[in-house]
Amino acid sequence: MTTFSDLQLSEPLLRALAAEGYEKPTPIQAQSIPSLIAGKDLLGIAQTGTGKTAAFALPILQKLAAHPERAARGTCRALILSPTRELAAQIGESFRVYGKFLKVTRAVVFGGVSLGKQVDILRGGVDVVVATPGRLVDLIERRALTLSKVEIFVLDEVDQMLDLGFIHAIRKITGMLPQQRQNLFFSATMPKEIAGLANNLLTDPVRVEVAPVATTAERVNQAVIHVDPANKAKLLVELLKDNNMTRTLVFTRTKHGADKVMKNLSAAGYTAAAIHGNKSQNNRERALAGFKAGKILVLVATDIAARGIDVDGVSHVVNYDLPHVPESYVHRIGRTARAGADGSAIAFCTPEDRGLLRDIEKTIRAQVPVIEHALGLKGVQQLAPNFGWNPAGKDKPQGAKPHHRGQKPNRNHGAGNGQPKQGSKPQGQRPQQPKPNAGGAQAPKRSGGSSWMTELGKKQG
Ligand code: AMP
Repeated sequence: MTTFSDLQLSEPLLRALAAEGYEKPTPIQAQSIPSLIAGKDLLGIAQTGTGKTAAFALPILQKLAAHPERAARGTCRALILSPTRELAAQIGESFRVYGKFLKVTRAVVFGGVSLGKQVDILRGGVDVVVATPGRLVDLIERRALTLSKVEIFVLDEVDQMLDLGFIHAIRKITGMLPQQRQNLFFSATMPKEIAGLANNLLTDPVRVEVAPVATTAERVNQAVIHVDPANKAKLLVELLKDNNMTRTLVFTRTKHGADKVMKNLSAAGYTAAAIHGNKSQNNRERALAGFKAGKILVLVATDIAARGIDVDGVSHVVNYDLPHVPESYVHRIGRTARAGADGSAIAFCTPEDRGLLRDIEKTIRAQVPVIEHALGLKGVQQLAPNFGWNPAGKDKPQGAKPHHRGQKPNRNHGAGNGQPKQGSKPQGQRPQQPKPNAGGAQAPKRSGGSSWMTELGKKQG
């Protein structure tokens, strides 16, 4: 088995990975890191969720730290282009986490926020710049940054960049890079246009292809409940009466939302904790330890805070708010069903969020089965009968698969065996007597009286 130390990573990086609880490299990390440290170009065919961020962030940090001359004013040494703000922020966060024992500076720049502060930061010179293409071009035109000193250039999620119309910005940017540099190119798909772009950009690249994250999505029992925003809190409390929810991770979009959900659960008598960017490291570690030990039944998290959470035996993931980035949905539900274990994911979808659900269904190439609930909205049918990615109708979506026990996961990272351990049932507190719901709502009808997921399993045949 390959370990991180086999990959020749330096001690401060190994320490940061250990602190994150990463035990072994993912396939893309094992296959890419040695070549990247050796200075090769890379063509990575991989989606979010495969561990690709660390696959490029670790060797970049290692290389920059090995020659620690600071970036000169108005320059950077590594440039990472990302299609969306959210992904840019996540990449920046990964650099922070993996580089916490190194003196490598970084900045994340994207549109929609004021330019002034970004201009100031870049003018000072930073080692790593993570940027969306449009804003980067803006900043270069304002002379906040020149690209003449870029040593390593990463184009992430190229297929999404092209979908978003960034091709001109990308051409402009690559035209300003120095000849002598290392290039990394990541795309989930490789149609002709993208292969052509890769060909122009890369010199004798190492090619690494890993299984798409969709396989993660297929292993998880998924369901969606359409619900009015005002009923979400009650709905969560109702669902938690299901005894199968032994270790539940709840995702909210905002820090404030996470706190609210946590308070609501505590008021209903559940042991719950929230983790997000405003919590101290100490606080966060305590919450995680409690969750791992089974003392905390429900952990409420934002996406950024949840990165790197690697807890075995998460029985359920609840998407309390749907994420704005479909890939985050895949990330989130991948927290359950790790390393071959079965897991379930339930999403709450408000009328306003239906577009987000449609995007998610396109990304996972399946419909998320709808379950009706007394607290949910009635009569909302499947939303995306036509996904539009395969007009020929071949390989039609089958619907999110309820059970894939026989299927071995392709993504085998994460801690250890991933199976909930026998005899280590979480001890988290459930209220002794579930209070009758104020609105008179009933728990979902359950075949066998056990779980709302049983209902789903039946529907799926
Ligand atoms: P990415 O594909 O880079 O977005 O990463 C997907 C998720 O996997 C992120 O939440 C990472 O924190 C996590 N991750 C990346 N590498 C590993 C690893 N070697 N072991 C466990 N988790 C990892």
